[in-house]
Amino acid sequence: MEMASDKNNTQNLHCKRGDDSCQFLSEIVELRKEVNSLTELVRTDALTGLYNFRFFNETISLEMERTRRGTQPLSMIILDIDHFKKFNDQWGHELGNQALVHIANLIKLTVRKLDFPCRFGGEEFVILLPNTDLRQAVNVADRLRETIASTPLENGDQPAISITASIGVDQFSAAHTETSEAFIHRVDSWLYKSKHNGRNLVSYPALNISEKLESVTLEEKNALFGILNDDN
Ligand code: GH3
Ligand code: MG
Ligand code: MG
Repeated sequence: MEMASDKNNTQNLHCKRGDDSCQFLSEIVELRKEVNSLTELVRTDALTGLYNFRFFNETISLEMERTRRGTQPLSMIILDIDHFKKFNDQWGHELGNQALVHIANLIKLTVRKLDFPCRFGGEEFVILLPNTDLRQAVNVADRLRETIASTPLENGDQPAISITASIGVDQFSAAHTETSEAFIHRVDSWLYKSKHNGRNLVSYPALNISEKLESVTLEEKNALFGILNDDN
């Protein structure tokens, strides 16, 4: 009995190709929209609108795998707001939340289209920068630190509040064999250095000469060799 009625329902679901008046078409379009917005919700941090930790975890694995098979490095920036406990104690949790949204907005404005800005948790943020070497990632991190330090949080009719953040940066390339946890730990230890050295800083491993040359543009190379030739 049940099978017969299932069969009837299935026959009713059949729409002719090109039949725009098909009664299920608009329902399917609606369902597709709902699936898209649920997918967005599942990967987004509700407070800041950045990608959440779950999305970050999935993306870092995929991007590390892609990097292992390619030639371009993957870079990571970890950012932690300075003395945020004190901020909450002084200004309250609600303004603390507004500060997190403020920082997230500055991150969104600073990163490039193909980067993945995520809320790592609490007052920590992480940005994955595919096809980006350390030198380029450090440029992004420097710009971000500077933007945060020079854009205080509006506080109604009271004076705006200065906020700073400490940052760690490092890159992962095809030659690396470490796990994502180890890569995160590596970047986190540079963040720790920024905290240790006084905060409101960007820390990263020394850029060696070959890395510097690899990441200079053709124009920069021509200019450089022009200078060298002039000296000869
Ligand atoms: P440091 O400069 O060493 O990073 O000091 P800190 O005070 O920022 O670091 P600590 O880890 O001691 O404190 C982090 C604070 O962030 C404590 C916690 O209440 C606050 N925090 C974490 N998540 C949220 C949040 O979602 N909203 C608000 N308002 N505060 C949060
Ligand atoms: Mg922290
Ligand atoms: Mg902090």
